Amino acid sequence: MIPAICSKCGLVFPSGVGGAPGARFRIESVSASCPRCWSSAPVLDGYYEILEDAVRLVQQPDFTRETAKALALEAQKLQRNTAEAQAASGRIRKTHPAAADRFALWSSIGANFAVAMATVVSALLVHMENRANAPLMERAVEALEDFSRHQPQPDLRAHRLSVAPTTSIRPTARPHSKEKLRVDHPKQSDCQAATPEPKLENRRIRRAKRATSSRKSRKPVRRP
Ligand SMILES: [Zn+2]
Repeated sequence: MIPAICSKCGLVFPSGVGGAPGARFRIESVSASCPRCWSSAPVLDGYYEILEDAVRLVQQPDFTRETAKALALEAQKLQRNTAEAQAASGRIRKTHPAAADRFALWSSIGANFAVAMATVVSALLVHMENRANAPLMERAVEALEDFSRHQPQPDLRAHRLSVAPTTSIRPTARPHSKEKLRVDHPKQSDCQAATPEPKLENRRIRRAKRATSSRKSRKPVRRP
């Protein structure tokens, strides 16, 4: 499945357009609808060429785990909007010029895509270190598909709207829900059956309550 990249929010997602690795064709002006913001998202042009290029990069003898780490780190900075693409590839260029060229291409497609490709490159390194049998290109396709289906990706529209995009996207903080659990406990016991952790806590609270209530009832007995 060839990924599409939303030009508005930056989401990398499976486009529904298929193709086999090794097939050489260009997708001109094919687009899919972004599942997050419903904008029109172009299907990635030259998908297999980009992946083949990444495979060649990883096979270079001087491409190390450190280079892969640097790529991931700089891509994440772009994703969090804490670095400029040009400065980021400049930092990579100091240790690995070829990697910097690829990084510049990936980040021109999108910050989430740069993170996706850094993930692919790391997966390829691990694959090579394990001397796995499957061809590297197959592993690259698999890693990118996995990323586009399962990896949480920030909405890059937020970069233009606010200064702190990552905090506003997240669901409400946990402590609140814990408090709620404690208060609503007697009514919610059925819904909580599946999760063992709150159950333990509730049992502890119940025991504590029982202890205090028995202490109270004992008081009058002690002082007749
Ligand atoms: Zn979108």
